Amino acid sequence: MGFFWGILIVLLLNGLIFPNIAQRQIKDTDYGTFINKVDSGLVKEVAIKSGHIYFTAEESGKTNAYQTGATNDPQLVDRLLNADSPNENRKIAFNQVVPQENSPILNFLLMWILPGLIFYLIWRQAGKSLGRLGGGGNFMSFGNSGAKIYAESDIKTTFADVAGQDEAKETLKEIVDFLHNPAKYTEIGASLPKGALLVGPPGTGKTLIARAVAGEAKVPFFAISGSEFVQMFVGMGAAKVRDLFKQANEKAPCIIFIDEIDAIGKRRDTGMGNDEREQTLNQLLTEMDGFDGRKGVVILAATNRPEMLRPGRFDRRVQMELPDLEGRKAILAVHLKKVKHEGIDMDIVARATAGSSGAELANIVNEAALRAVRMGRKSVTTSDLEESVETVLAGAQKKNAVLSATEKKLVAYHEIGHALVAAMQTHSAPVHKITIIPRTSGALGYTMQVDSGEHFLLDKEELFNRIVTLTGGRSAEEIVCNTVTTGASNDIEQATKLARAMITRYGMSGKYDMMALETVSNAYLGGDSSLTCSSETASDIDKEVLRVIKEAHEKAKRIISEHIDIMHRAATFLIEKETITGNEFMNFLKQTPEQKS
Ligand code: ADP
Ligand code: MG
Ligand code: ZN
Repeated sequence: MGFFWGILIVLLLNGLIFPNIAQRQIKDTDYGTFINKVDSGLVKEVAIKSGHIYFTAEESGKTNAYQTGATNDPQLVDRLLNADSPNENRKIAFNQVVPQENSPILNFLLMWILPGLIFYLIWRQAGKSLGRLGGGGNFMSFGNSGAKIYAESDIKTTFADVAGQDEAKETLKEIVDFLHNPAKYTEIGASLPKGALLVGPPGTGKTLIARAVAGEAKVPFFAISGSEFVQMFVGMGAAKVRDLFKQANEKAPCIIFIDEIDAIGKRRDTGMGNDEREQTLNQLLTEMDGFDGRKGVVILAATNRPEMLRPGRFDRRVQMELPDLEGRKAILAVHLKKVKHEGIDMDIVARATAGSSGAELANIVNEAALRAVRMGRKSVTTSDLEESVETVLAGAQKKNAVLSATEKKLVAYHEIGHALVAAMQTHSAPVHKITIIPRTSGALGYTMQVDSGEHFLLDKEELFNRIVTLTGGRSAEEIVCNTVTTGASNDIEQATKLARAMITRYGMSGKYDMMALETVSNAYLGGDSSLTCSSETASDIDKEVLRVIKEAHEKAKRIISEHIDIMHRAATFLIEKETITGNEFMNFLKQTPEQKS
């Protein structure tokens, strides 16, 4: 921002003090044009100066400035003397120098003040980004020892703000107790873990629980994010780490929290050179090794890519998982405390949000409150929450995107296809709800999955059935509408991923027995994997994957063909109402045998 003000000020000065310079843009032109303009009587002033001709011409009421190369034209002076001009005395003035040198004041501004200003602004900007490391409301100083991070004291977050995550809290409670009363531990000679690593998918409350530890222990909290090291100057990272630990030692007992610690450890990505990153990381590890665990400095770090870190530095690993049904209810309750609400059916909302993270749930509650305000109500209701679930998870309803009748039919049959195939295989409600209202996220329909409950193991048949369900959408398009659409792209991707995993990772194809053909890195962020087999095997795997998918696709088509009447009735209902719940769908399934008998 400051930078723009600087530029603006210079421009303003330019325009106010030296208006003629600001106005007179000198355009390049050729000698012929110049002569033409002279002959047509447009030219007012001419100056010949070091091989250049500068001139002004009056065109459509404006005075324009031009320059052209001077050719050795002996008639030029005659021409100019004889030519007409828009000047009052009707002659061209050619004793006047048109282009003005920048005034000495402007030169001074440009050469000395502006670079100084720019440098100052860059310096301040850098200072700010370093200052941010200190966390809320703190400032930084540039000292010889490097940038300082100030501790946040008086944190109000407590474990009560973190719903669910009981195992994590259990582990961290010991750390809190240690910080409260280090003597209790040191008397026996126990030294507590130097650090704990919080691991889990994004939005599960890692940052939140770290603050809660500081809030519970009532100790200073030094927070720094690994990704902020990336923006730093060369050599600063390591200096910063050193300084951080020095300060923390002075303030002990206290907590150092390094968020997104994987950002320091990771190799690719631009911004910070590998050397710099290594240096920062090494400094961090050295400090961690070196400091006295009994003093009461506890390091918490958070990451969603545990595999990026070398094992062994953090003696405790605290796993944060996506919440289950009970966990989601608890998280909703925590966040609903902050808004006025009445008669909320927590169960409905928790069931509709299978697979959502704590962050998403927090967001859902807030969206619901905003919706209540929009509706002119004084408190949040269940329907606000239900609508905001869809807004947060699938994007807002696109009010003016109208699907054509054909598209609507295709989307409806596609979604019902998935649901029907799923229901026929598991004999239970396959979905929570299906809607075919276009969303701003680009989705044309949205299927809210039903919470499948706690499920730790999946057998081969279940996995295969999932693939069958994924192919159900496309199968319905094929059978009913006799066409294929782009709507199945995501299904295709997922089905392929599953089929591949069955073969390469779960040993579920008879062919490769229990041989690992693939390793997975990055389990929380999409799960990149890399093959660990020969290229012949790799191409063989492809064939095997295709076989599984084909088989699944055939099965889906068979199921749909056998129950095509249910398909038609459910889809007609969905097309008309735009929404169908799991129960309504199951009613269509139940009706069939009665009607047939
Ligand atoms: P992470 O650091 O794991 O990505 P955050 O701690 O930043 O997640 O969580 C973001 C927000 O989500 C929190 O500020 C909080 O509002 C909400 N949240 C996440 N998990 C929980 C939870 N278990 N209980 C209550 N709120 C949660
Ligand atoms: Mg976080
Ligand atoms: Zn689909």
